[in-house]
Amino acid sequence: MNNSKNLLQDLHGRHHAYLRISLIERCNLRCTYCMPEEGVKLSPKSHLMTYEEIYDIAKTFVKHGVTKIRLTGGEPLIRKDIPIILEKLATLPVDLSITSNAVIIDNFFDILKANGVNKINVSLDSLDEAKFKHITRRNEFNKVYKNILLLVKEGFSVKVNAVLMKGFNDDEIIDFINLTKDFPISVRFIEFMPFDGNKWDMSKMVSYKEVMECVSSTFEETQVERLQDAPNDTSKNYKISGYKGSFAIISSVTNPFCDSCNRLRLTANGQLKNCLFSSGESDLLTMLRAGKSIEPIIQKAVQAKLKVRGGMDTLEKLQEPKLHKNNRSMITIGG
Ligand code: SAM
Ligand code: SF4
Repeated sequence: MNNSKNLLQDLHGRHHAYLRISLIERCNLRCTYCMPEEGVKLSPKSHLMTYEEIYDIAKTFVKHGVTKIRLTGGEPLIRKDIPIILEKLATLPVDLSITSNAVIIDNFFDILKANGVNKINVSLDSLDEAKFKHITRRNEFNKVYKNILLLVKEGFSVKVNAVLMKGFNDDEIIDFINLTKDFPISVRFIEFMPFDGNKWDMSKMVSYKEVMECVSSTFEETQVERLQDAPNDTSKNYKISGYKGSFAIISSVTNPFCDSCNRLRLTANGQLKNCLFSSGESDLLTMLRAGKSIEPIIQKAVQAKLKVRGGMDTLEKLQEPKLHKNNRSMITIGG
């Protein structure tokens, strides 16, 4: 077996210290960009990782250098055993965080705090109740908005993720940035990405360049500060001078950040994905249940990681449906 340092090192020199674990394939919202209207084929319950299995797999990754774990889904907080999952993972020496739609997060403040989970990413694609309902196919805007403000009040570090789509919410870019005037949140504009069943096409996407054009048509050049991005950051970070919060753009489509990618993804049914854009998966759960070491499969998966976006290294390739349509819907990957 290779030494710890090498197991998570790929052939392009990238070390993977960040594991995203999807806890569930189901959700209490139905965002159009994330899942098809008819829903997704769910794995039978027996094929999903139990909390013990999540812990065992996570432990192996930590042994080999993972220092950061983010829980996602589906909606991670609707998993019944989320308290015990948080408790178990909190015993590992990692920075533990969560991505949630925040619909029911107010029931979890104590348990999140007790387990050292301070960094919360929340999806919110519109500040308009009717538009929120349209995109999520559910009427939960008021709860989500109220919970974001409560999270801030409770002292959590909050990032708000908004997937921008032309003609839908691109007229709200400045409204989102204005939220950062009084609240210390980071609003992150995400370029709409292609996944199975989400009817993606390039013309619906709002690019990094377009966001910045909108920003410079509203704010003076001297008001817009470029912030230092953290190492391995997927976002380009900015701030309006004097505002409490900041904003950022995640440009996976027009400006991929693959060179510094340090992420691996574990799906709720125990499959390791070496890249968000790759349809390839490695079955860790079957191996674990067979009582065998999962390390050789992890190593093989990491070494198979392609340099850029699962092989879709140009915008032309990204637009070829046959190259991205075999990938799961985002709801079953965990963004
Ligand atoms: N339910 C939680 C939530 O919505 O935050 C966690 C899971 S969700 C799949 C994680 C992130 O993936 C969200 O921020 C969502 O906006 C993002 N996402 C889903 N589909 C996407 C797409 N097609 N393009 C870009 N981001 C997407
Ligand atoms: Fe659910 Fe999050 Fe996907 Fe929306 S983006 S359907 S909230 S998993």
